Amino acid sequence: MIIQHCPRCGKESLAPTGAYWKCTVCRMAITSQAWARDTRHQTVSRPLTQSK
Ligand SMILES: [Zn+2]
Repeated sequence: MIIQHCPRCGKESLAPTGAYWKCTVCRMAITSQAWARDTRHQTVSRPLTQSK
C-alpha cells in the first residue's frame, strides 16, 4: 500500500481509498486529483521548503 505524508498533521498516514486520499490520524480527506495538483504545485513554487 502506498502511504504518503499528510500535509495537515505531518504523519506518514495518508492512504489512498478509491478516489480519495485519507489520513488515518487527523481524518483529512483529499481527492486524488487535488492531491496530485497540490503536490505538484508545492514542488514547483516552493523548492526550498522544509527549513524547520
Ligand atoms: Zn493527517
